[in-house]
Amino acid sequence: MIRVTTFAGKSVAVFGLGASGIATAKALIAGGADVVASDDNAASCQAAADAGIATADFKDTNWATFDALILAPGIPLTHHEPHWAAHGAKLAGVEVIGDLELFVRERRKQDFEVPLIAITGTNGKSTTTALTAHILREAGRDVQVGGNIGTAMLLLEPFAPGRHYVVECSSYQIDLAPSLDPTVGVLLNVTPDHLDRHGTIENYAAVKARLVAGAQRAVVGVDDAYSRKIAGDLDEHRAGPLPEKIMRLSTRDSAQSDIGIDGTNVVLRRDGRTQAVADLAGIGSLRGSHNAENACAAAAALLMLPEPLSADEIARGMRSFPGLAHRMEELGRQDRTLFVNDSKATNADSARRALSSFGRIYWIAGGRPKAGGLAALAPHFPRIAKAYLIGEAEARFAKDLDGKLAYQRCTDLATATAAASRDALADGRPGAVVLLSPAAASFDQFANFEARGDAFRALVAQLKLPVNAAEPDQ
Ligand code: ADP
Repeated sequence: MIRVTTFAGKSVAVFGLGASGIATAKALIAGGADVVASDDNAASCQAAADAGIATADFKDTNWATFDALILAPGIPLTHHEPHWAAHGAKLAGVEVIGDLELFVRERRKQDFEVPLIAITGTNGKSTTTALTAHILREAGRDVQVGGNIGTAMLLLEPFAPGRHYVVECSSYQIDLAPSLDPTVGVLLNVTPDHLDRHGTIENYAAVKARLVAGAQRAVVGVDDAYSRKIAGDLDEHRAGPLPEKIMRLSTRDSAQSDIGIDGTNVVLRRDGRTQAVADLAGIGSLRGSHNAENACAAAAALLMLPEPLSADEIARGMRSFPGLAHRMEELGRQDRTLFVNDSKATNADSARRALSSFGRIYWIAGGRPKAGGLAALAPHFPRIAKAYLIGEAEARFAKDLDGKLAYQRCTDLATATAAASRDALADGRPGAVVLLSPAAASFDQFANFEARGDAFRALVAQLKLPVNAAEPDQ
């Protein structure tokens, strides 16, 4: 745990008592603050009280008695309307911040040389965070990884010289961290998402921009209009306390970028010369152009550290990256058939990335449908040998696919997995893939996308397929 000493002797309210809220309260108490915590949920309050944290109902509280309100990132700060606690604190002139802000203040106070790589973007945050941390670890560096990806900021190991922190930041966390000042800030991309919380895309983009504007060095993806504008603004205002160095990332436009892709290589472009950093060919966990973007971002961040990694170290780390569960996760092969769990693809846009990454696809799709159906995926239909439809989306998806490709209505995941596996194995041609990439939410039949992916993994493990140790692609 990181003790928060910047509020020693002060009075702090903590609102929102999930795992990170409880960790925050404990870190503040350990650092000498006087903490009172609360939550709209009585059971969460009780859990905090059981953990020895003073709790109170903030409904009639005099906010002016507090020096700060620490808000959990899941609680609305601005849109569609501020939570009453945030509203009350702000009216009383009390600052409202989050655990990421406590982390960066403590880091400045303790003044260790601890590199902080902070990563945001609409898509690819977790993959880039995990990949960056993995490469650093493989290169022998001391690494802590946390934030939105899992471990709460203040549950990370305390600062120590040379320890690297790799942190995934959601826009909510950035919103609550006004002095976020990473060593390297990474902004992958900005596309409309979470607008319920940020009002407009402009607001959302402005929040994301803060992560790179406050960084010493910045990596900015320039393949979408919003992040391209952010990169342009950083260049224009270079005189202020803005990044001393910016690397532009594009997987499409070599003229626009300092780091990008040439064939299967991550390449650095400097002074008119191109230098290969790492070859992504054959790395199953980094398949697809979206992962090429994530790989470029990780490489750029590691090359921009005050003590940068070498191209060799980066290439080696990428080759051994195991990937993240539920994101085009390779579960294994049988004969020539590959089984892939992409349960995280809860909308058509995410599923498109998986569909564009494989050849003969036996595609399991469905769940709770989202707006738009499968229309956007039509360009990839020729890659799909057959679709196996499940869940509430079944009728809607069947209508979208009618007359365009072969499909089977399977109702549930077990039926779909059995049918798809049977067909793919009978196919026998190279490149056959049984792919769960649902293009729909999981909540009709599962608790969340992780439970859906776990169920698929278990079903694949139970297929009791005949063992075949031959290397399928040779
Ligand atoms: P996040 O943490 O931002 O939600 P993840 O790394 O967990 O992102 O990836 C989630 C899904 O988003 C992946 O399964 C993939 O479909 C898609 N994705 C991953 N990286 C990118 C990227 N760079 N650009 C667009 N989509 C991506």
